[in-house]
Amino acid sequence: MDSQSIVAPGLSAKTRSEFLTELRNTTPGKPLDLLVIGGGITGAGLALEAASRGLTTVLIEKRDFGSGTSSRSTKLIHGGLRYLEHYDFALVREGLLERAAIFEMAPHVAHPFPFIIPIYKSRSRNYDRPILVRAGLILYDLLAGRYGIRRHHRISRDEALARAPQLDSEGLQGAYVYYDGRTNDSRLVIDTIKTAHRYGARIVNYASVQSFFGAPQLDGALIRDEFTGELIRVHARSIINATGVWMNETRALAGPLPETDRQLRPSKGIHLTVPAERLKVESAWLIPALGEHRFYFVVPWEDRVNIGTTDTDFTGDKDSPGALASEISQILDAINTFFPSADLTMNDVISAWAGLRPLISSGNSQVSSTAVSRKEEIFEDSDGLISLAGGKLTTFRLMAERGVDTALRRLSISPKSKPSQGRRLRLAGSGAVPSQTERETLADTTGISKAVLDHLIEAYGSEYQAVLEILSEKEEYRQQLARDLPVIAAEV
Ligand code: FAD
Repeated sequence: MDSQSIVAPGLSAKTRSEFLTELRNTTPGKPLDLLVIGGGITGAGLALEAASRGLTTVLIEKRDFGSGTSSRSTKLIHGGLRYLEHYDFALVREGLLERAAIFEMAPHVAHPFPFIIPIYKSRSRNYDRPILVRAGLILYDLLAGRYGIRRHHRISRDEALARAPQLDSEGLQGAYVYYDGRTNDSRLVIDTIKTAHRYGARIVNYASVQSFFGAPQLDGALIRDEFTGELIRVHARSIINATGVWMNETRALAGPLPETDRQLRPSKGIHLTVPAERLKVESAWLIPALGEHRFYFVVPWEDRVNIGTTDTDFTGDKDSPGALASEISQILDAINTFFPSADLTMNDVISAWAGLRPLISSGNSQVSSTAVSRKEEIFEDSDGLISLAGGKLTTFRLMAERGVDTALRRLSISPKSKPSQGRRLRLAGSGAVPSQTERETLADTTGISKAVLDHLIEAYGSEYQAVLEILSEKEEYRQQLARDLPVIAAEV
């Protein structure tokens, strides 16, 4: 399917209500092929994969799409340079290949980006010995092979300072530049969901799974419309639980959890956002955390800079993880150590947010969460419920392929008979966008500022036109929602 040529009948309150009617009409004799629970990147990827392989699919999400972990990440599309330390070469290679796949599938929302690691004379100021960092970068390039972006290289002290003028120059010897990707995580989720819908998936938000029915194999789930409270029996031949850190709560709705030694281990990571004029960086930087063997990413983001992340075990309320003042200070201290003239304080923090990694633990609580593998895991319970968790944004396509293969096998269908389109899929918004010159003209004819137009194209890719159409309906839709942000009412 050519996503470029489709100006889709979009998802709306109307489609939601039509899909709910379809769900009410499922019966034991007329079930859906697949019910996917959870509208984060994992569920979105599964819905797209299943629908594009011809399965009748529904995706349900209890809140907004992407409102769980999938909008609270560092927003990188990466192989995971750090995992090399754990000799997880296969995982890194997999991430690097998927990085390239996402650049092809969604070039409007995932871009290659330079990352810089400073090198200091004093050992204590470096993340690791420069020779080891260099060895890691060589290996990273080798593992990417022909899917690499550009090989890493070293830059001089002066070049490093030109790219980050507030960087501490004392003892600075230069820096390494390597390449990974940057994305907008919540837009990636939405565009994946929109594409799934175009392949025929039914998509319903504000609907949550309350329980399951069917024995010994599950035949479906009871879902609740979160707006009306209505309970609907949805009959489905297979069910995949993609509820991330809520994975075990969802499994428990089918009955007591089976004894298993591989459990979910939520780990919290916080980020904060500061204005770009307070922290002047041209590329992304990797800054060592103080007293910990980890680094913070400092990533330019529109007119701001995002910094994170921490990595700590989490046992609180999963619905509302928050950033503690002590965690924010911890990040600010590290940034001020390496960018002393920035002198950031709490007053510079525009926003701070926390996300929970759905890590799968080996059962050994002695291992720090930083060292827990980022590989995804598929659990198949004896009642037929499939749960897919772990992994990362970057590998969502491959995870989805594996998840749908598992569902097909459970339905006694050979995955080969319904082959995956793999990296040939193109996400909504991935079509051509206007050049800079064309944008000048378009800004004139539509009467919106170039900054707003740039933002619309950045956020929606080739589907920016859908926002322009809405814009023409009412004058007030042109209104900018915040004084210093190019976000307009038409987007809402
Ligand atoms: P979620 O996004 O949490 O989605 C699960 C959904 O299920 C939620 O929306 C929830 O509302 C819904 N749900 C729960 N219960 C029910 C129910 N009963 N009925 C219906 N719906 C339900 N990965 C990268 O590739 N790059 C990065 O830079 C990166 N940085 C990260 C930084 C941090 C701090 C964290 C925490 C993670 C990061 N990751 C990164 C990993 C990545 O963000 C996650 O692996 C991914 O977002 C998990 O997505 P998910 O869909 O499995 O879970």
